[in-house]
Amino acid sequence: MKTVKDAFDVFKNKLAPLYEVTEIESIASLLIEELTGLSRTQLKAFPERGLNVVQSERLLTQLSCLKTGMPVQYILESAHFYGSDFKVNPSVLIPRPETEELVDWILKTIGHQPYQKILDIGTGSGCIPISLKLNTIDNEIFALDISPKALEVAVANAKLNNLDISFFEADILNHDLTARSLPEFNVIVSNPPYVTETDKQQMHQNVLDFEPHSALFVPQSNPLLFYVAIANFAVTHLVQNGYLFFEINESYGPETVDMLAAKGFADIELRKDLAGKDRMIRAVWPG
Ligand code: GLN
Repeated sequence: MKTVKDAFDVFKNKLAPLYEVTEIESIASLLIEELTGLSRTQLKAFPERGLNVVQSERLLTQLSCLKTGMPVQYILESAHFYGSDFKVNPSVLIPRPETEELVDWILKTIGHQPYQKILDIGTGSGCIPISLKLNTIDNEIFALDISPKALEVAVANAKLNNLDISFFEADILNHDLTARSLPEFNVIVSNPPYVTETDKQQMHQNVLDFEPHSALFVPQSNPLLFYVAIANFAVTHLVQNGYLFFEINESYGPETVDMLAAKGFADIELRKDLAGKDRMIRAVWPG
């Protein structure tokens, strides 16, 4: 691989069985951009630009990782989300575009109101609280996760952005969370594990092989496990007219809405993502 064009050709050849051509182009581009410091447009404009031996060896190593199915974000240890770059590793899910839609809905809902207390449950890389903090003023943001390794990533991401967010380790399924002295929140948000055994068949092998199962899967017998626990917590920890936001499994929209209604939540709105699937819910706690 002596030139940028060679590199693109080799990637197209070797990854053809695994990915679509356009996907290969964007994966190769991300890696070559990082390697050379050139933009995607520059790579397109100067395909004959040379690569040195070190660069070409690095790309070959990355290519062999890609061939095992490793997502490019884990290779780069970086993922783009809501206008920022986040550090990621296999201890956290790679942030998804549908979660950007959820963040967008929260921001539109709370607008420019300051002094909001917001809690994210199951924060992973911290992409939700960090994006909320970056796009609001004077809000106090809290985020929890059961995984210390995920929290390390989230804390690092907050530090990279110089943000003050209170991260803590806790298990939403365990009652010790209610024993903590936490403030009342204006907003509670969560994108908990929601993939069931049935959904597994449709999942990409690289998600199954590389992303943390504890962040993805919920028992088939109890698909609302996390939603019920979070709703119960929200009932005692939301201010009057506070908001609960969920990212949900597309197959359980109406069930989740009914569960929230039965607990006394009001103004429950179920929204589809850009792919047209039931993906998020906003509900108000009337107090
Ligand atoms: N949307 C993710 C996926 O399909 C799942 C996220 C989750 O379980 N919270 O891989």
